[in-house]
Parts: sequence; structure tokens; C-alpha cells
Amino acid sequence: MIEEKLRRQMQKLMIYVFCFVIVFVICGGAVLVYLHNTNNKNIKEQVIVEAGEYKTRILKQFEKDFQTLSTLSAFIDSHYISDEALLAERLEQANRDNNFLTMVYFGQDGRGVISTTGNETITGAGFSELSQEGMKVVKKALAGTASVSRLFESEFSGQRVFAYAVPVYDGDEIVGALAASDHIAIFSDIVSGNTVLGGGGYIHILDSEGDFLVRSSKTVVQEELSSIFDGPYLSESSSEEVKNAMQRQERIFSSFTYDGETYPFLLEPVDINGWYIFCVDTGEGLSANSSVSIMVVQITFFGILLLVIFMMFRGYRLLRNYNRDLISMAYFDSLTGAENMSRFRQRLEKAIGNGEGSVAAISIRQYIFLNEIFGREKTNQLLCQIKEEADRHIGKGEFFCRDTDDRFFLFLKETDRKILRTRLEAFMDEIVQNAEISRTDYQLAIYCGVAVSSDGGSPEKTADNLMESVPFALERAKGSHSNNIWFFDTELHKIEELENYIESHMHQALRDGEFKLFLQPQKNLKTGMLGSAEALVRWQTEGGKSIFPDRFIPMFERNGFCVNLDRYMLEQVFRQIRSWTDRGIKPIPVSVNQSKLLFFEPDYVQTLTELVRKYNVPANLITLEILEGLALENADELNIKIDQLQSLGFRISLDDFGSGYSSLNTLGKLKIDELKLDRDFLLSASDSKQGRVKLIMEQTVRLAGQLGISTVAEGVETTEDEEFIKSIGCDVGQGYLYDRPVSAADFDKKYMQSADGNYRFN
Ligand code: C2E
Ligand code: MG
Ligand code: MG
Repeated sequence: MIEEKLRRQMQKLMIYVFCFVIVFVICGGAVLVYLHNTNNKNIKEQVIVEAGEYKTRILKQFEKDFQTLSTLSAFIDSHYISDEALLAERLEQANRDNNFLTMVYFGQDGRGVISTTGNETITGAGFSELSQEGMKVVKKALAGTASVSRLFESEFSGQRVFAYAVPVYDGDEIVGALAASDHIAIFSDIVSGNTVLGGGGYIHILDSEGDFLVRSSKTVVQEELSSIFDGPYLSESSSEEVKNAMQRQERIFSSFTYDGETYPFLLEPVDINGWYIFCVDTGEGLSANSSVSIMVVQITFFGILLLVIFMMFRGYRLLRNYNRDLISMAYFDSLTGAENMSRFRQRLEKAIGNGEGSVAAISIRQYIFLNEIFGREKTNQLLCQIKEEADRHIGKGEFFCRDTDDRFFLFLKETDRKILRTRLEAFMDEIVQNAEISRTDYQLAIYCGVAVSSDGGSPEKTADNLMESVPFALERAKGSHSNNIWFFDTELHKIEELENYIESHMHQALRDGEFKLFLQPQKNLKTGMLGSAEALVRWQTEGGKSIFPDRFIPMFERNGFCVNLDRYMLEQVFRQIRSWTDRGIKPIPVSVNQSKLLFFEPDYVQTLTELVRKYNVPANLITLEILEGLALENADELNIKIDQLQSLGFRISLDDFGSGYSSLNTLGKLKIDELKLDRDFLLSASDSKQGRVKLIMEQTVRLAGQLGISTVAEGVETTEDEEFIKSIGCDVGQGYLYDRPVSAADFDKKYMQSADGNYRFN
């Protein structure tokens, strides 16, 4: 039971802990994912912001350059156009004032002026003197469109520059194109490796096709590439996505793989020429910092998780061991390792519920002395040995336990007494043979009590019944000097129980008046009248049970309580006779049974004398019945007592004559007044074949008559009995033919109310 409970509790606990771990993992995972996402989002936002800044710088530069060009174009009128030298001068000055690298003017006729910082101004120049990119923007401006060129290497300055060109109007007519080349500071930042994301990223500038316009020196891809789509770095799907986004001039986040590492990047449109800022996150710098933070959180989380799991397992093991200890404490005997009584009871309950079996209890003869004689160690060794023998002797489905001290209980599936006896004898013999103590002179013996669940027709016993019965059987087995087995017997046990009750309740019963005076009438066979009565005790318990004297008188004789009871009954008889006298009823003589113990009490005669005086009852109304056994021991002493009592007036009757060692010899020696023939005589005499018994009775009655002793026949049950005792000359008859012993009150009513004071039997 405990085991099951603990197991269930452990299971529950494990489920809780497991749920906790799951919740912990889920929450931790969610936090990590959240942190990761937030970090990604932050990095993305940061990248967008930084890309946006570059974009603004580029746009501002373009805007400024365009504005300057537009303003200057407004000053170029026909006056300048017609005078090339003047134009050249003007351009030179404008170039100086605005920090352009080169300034160019071309008319619709294809002739132009080129002013380069640090170089001589060229007049009358042709398109061929312009770089390819410069020519493109100039031609576009001549056609009416202001534009910016791609990045190119200036022939004049040798720097990487851009060319801007705006149309020059004369009224509504485009008369020429004003162009300038400039380097943009950020480009040199990018090229020189200035980074974004606090060092964790870099920037390229791409054209609308994905070709590099400016490529950072910090690039992770070391190979010389002309386009981001070159090489295997962008996956096909990413490539596709990026291309689509670029077509729509949209911002896009994607990633490429290089050297096994994935690098996220942002493509931010610049809004000029379809260019893009290509911003790559290398995972260092800023993002490295946040990655480290996330990693720290991650490691902490896994650390805690591991700790929790470790503690969980450690806790589980501790708890399991603790439970194991608990169970062994609850179910096992620490000395022998056998199971203990509570475990045994549990198993017995189940075993008896499933079928039949027997419980045997064994104990060692004089166990407490063994400790003293051989010491605790040796005795403990013996107990352990019994445990081992028991292990060997029990079969499948059988079990045993050590209760306390030397007491072991075994459950055996057997119910056949013979087989049980053989098995238990073998078990006990082996214990004795193998015991170290047996190597000394000491006579080791084992007692065994057995209770069988279904025993010869008696109703099946429950586990409780068996456990209650087995100690009684064990108690019975005790006392022998060699191994002894005793089977519990229900009938025997009832007797024992009653004896126990009697012994433990007798004093209280006497105090509470539970012993009642009953009277059985005796018929005067000569007159046919009620002659006398015998006082017989009945024990009426407070539970309403009536106990007959043959149940308790023998025990009281053994334990001496008979003296108290007889004194009490004597007094009851005196009181009864007194009561009759007081009520004006003619009293009849009453016989009272006297036990041997009382008879030889030193103050016995004195007690009787006092009673006579106290109740003022003539002593000759009291007949003291004694048993023949008294005479066997010391007839002379008995005769002295009889003499004393007779001189006081009491009559002495010898009860149950013929039941024991009676002999006519005894009769001759004792000076008794009355002889009561045991009812065994009549019982045997009724058998017509027993003519000899009749003869003995006849002779006894005759002899008694000759000795002046009156005779009472006991156990007169039939008229034939009466006929017979009358025929042999018996004086008095007593038996069920006349009446059973009845309570004093009933006796009064029935026998003591006749008008003339004499009750006549029919
Ligand atoms: P007992 O003195 O020989 O008493 C006669 C017993 O025979 C009584 O049993 C009585 O009930 C029984 N009896 C009488 N007529 C018949 C009959 O026709 N047939 C049969 N089968 N039995 C008959 P009870 O009352 O059970 O007493 C048993 C014995 O207990 C007495 O035998 C006597 O020895 C003893 N006893 C009874 N009362 C006392 C007492 O107060 N003190 C002492 N010391 N012994 C007592
Ligand atoms: Mg008697
Ligand atoms: Mg008798």
C-alpha cells in the first residue's frame, strides 16, 4: 500500500518536474527567439538607417552639383557662347569657385571648352576629347535632359569621378550643355573601407543591373567580381528575388553565402540611375555585440536548463532512494531482512482473498533465556538463520515475516494438516539441526502454532481470523522440550475462551451477585413427599448468559476461588431457610456442596457456627455434601472434621458415590449420615444387561442401611429408575423425573406454597 502510494507520488512529482522543464524550455526558447528576432530587427533597422544616411549624402552631393551647374548655366548667354576665350575664362573661374574637377561647355555644333583644375583650359575641343561617360551626359544635356554619369576614371584628374550635365538655354532653345565632373566624398569613404554597423558591415554601390559601381575594400568576397550575381554566392531563389526587387527599385533584405558562412545584406535604392546601396552585415561589430549578448543569454539558459535537469535527476534519485528506505523501514525487519508484520498482513489479506491457506507462527523455546545464556549476537544469528531456512522452505505464492523477538509467521498455501505437519516439521528440524546453539548441550526447540483457513467443515476463516487464532495454537504448543506443532481448534478455543472469561470475571461476578442459588427437589421415596433439596449454583452473567457449574467449579477448585464461592452459597442457603421460616413456611433440609479446600479451611467450623448463630437456623436443616476423594487422602482427619460438624448438628453426605474410586471400604470408614449414589449407577443400570450394577447398587444401599446411613439416588430420570431405586430400598430420589434445579424464587413458588406445608409429587 505504502509502496503503491509512494510510487504514485513519485510519478506525479516527475510529471510536475517534466512539465516544468517543458514550460521552461518553451519559455526560454520563446525568449531566445524573441531576442534573436528583436536583434535581427534592430540590426535591419540600423542597416536601413545607415544605408539611408549614405543615400542622403549621395543625393545631397548630386543635388548640390546639379544646382551649381544649373545656376552657372543661367549665366552662359549668347555673349559668352560667341566668345570662346571669354567662355573659357568664365568656366575656369566657375571651376575654381565650385571645387569641380573639370568643367565643360559644348555647343550644339559639337565644339566646346574644357577647364580642368590644374590644367590649361582647352578651347575648340571636340566630343572625342571627353571621356566616354562625360560624352554621354553632355549629349543627353544637348538633347534636353540633365543627368549624372556612371563613375569613371577622369582622364584629366586621374580620379574616379562622376559627370553631371545640364542643358544651357537661350530662351526656349537649347544652345549647349554645361557639364562638370566631381568626386563624391562618400565613395572614397566606401572604397577606403569605412564601415557601417559599427564595423560589422560594409557597403558597395551597385548600378541598376547589380554591377559594382563602387566596391568596398572590406568585402568578404575576395574574388574580383563585376556583379553581385557573379559567382555562386547568391542562391538561385535569392538571385531571382533580388532581381525582381531591383526591377521595381524596391528595398530588399536577402543573404549570400561565402566560405560556408551566411551574410545578410540590404539592397537600398538610391533613386538615381537605378543605383543601389548594397549593405552587408558581416556579423561583427554591432551585430557581434548583440550576438554575444544573445549567446550569453543562450548559454545561461542552457546552463540553467542543464542544472534543472541535473537537479531533477539528482532529486529523483534521492527521492527514489529515500522512498526505498522508507519502504524497507515500513516493510522489512532490519535485523533479519525478512518482511515485517504489516507487510505480512497486507499480503495475507490478498492471499486469503484469492484462495485457501494456513498461517503458522513459530517461536523459540525459552527465547529470553537464550539471550542470557548465549548472548545477543548468537541469538540474532539464530533469528537470521531462521529467516534463511524460511526462505528455503516456502514455495511459490507463500511468504513469511518476522514479527517481534523470536516470532515468525508463515503463510503456506497448504490446508491439509498432514502435509502441513510434514512441511513444518522439516522446517523446524532443519532450524534446530543447523543452529550453532545446537552444537552445545542446550536443547533447542521450536514451537509452532497453525491456523488453517478452511478446516474440516468449519466456515472459512478470514485473514483476521487466522491471525487471531494462530497465537492460541502457538500458546498451546509451548511447554514441550522438543519441537512441537499445534493446530488451532475452534471447539477447544471456545472452551479456552470461556475459561479465560471465568477466570477474569469470577471476582467481579461474586461481588455483583451473578452466582445464583438454584434448588433441586429431592423426593422422600417412603412418603412420596418433597423431603429436601440440593443447592446448586448457576452463574448468570451480566450479558444474560447462564454458565453451569461443571464449567467453572473444577477451575475454581484449582485456583482456590471455590472457597469464596462455597462460603457465599452457604450463606445463601442459610438466608433461604431463614426466609422460609420468617414467612411462616415450614423449611426443608437443604444440601450444600462443599469443596475440599473449604472443608479443610481452619476456620471452617467456626464459619458455620457463626452462620447458624447469625441466621438462627437449626444446623440439622443443612446437609454438607463432600466428595469421596476427601476420604481417600486422610480418612481419620476427615472423620474428626465430620465429628465436629455433626456435634454442631450438621448432616454430612458423601456425594457422587460410585463415580470414582468409591469402595464399600470407604463407606465403612466414614461416619457420614447420607450417601448419594452417583447418577452413573442409574445410567448403567438402565441398561438391562447391567445386572451387576444393579446388584452393586442394591448391596451398597443395603450396607448403608445397615450402617445407619440414608441413601439418595441421583439422576432419577424415568419412572423405571424410580421403580428400581424404590425396589432396592433407597430413601431419597433426585433427578429430572421430579424437577430440574430451579431458581430459589421458582422453587418457592412451586414447592413451598402448599397449604399443609408438604409438597407431594404425583
Ligand atoms: P452434584 O452435586 O452431584 O449435583 C447434581 C448434578 O446433577 C447437578 O448438576 C444437577 O443439575 C444434575 N442432575 C440432577 N438430576 C439429574 C438428572 O436426572 N439427570 C442428569 N443428567 N443430571 C441431573 P449441576 O447443577 O450442573 O452441578 C454439577 C456439579 O457441580 C454438582 O454435582 C456439584 O459437584 C457441583 N456444584 C454445583 N453447585 C456447587 C456449589 O455451590 N459448590 C460446589 N463446591 N460445587 C457445586
Ligand atoms: Mg451434590
Ligand atoms: Mg452428585
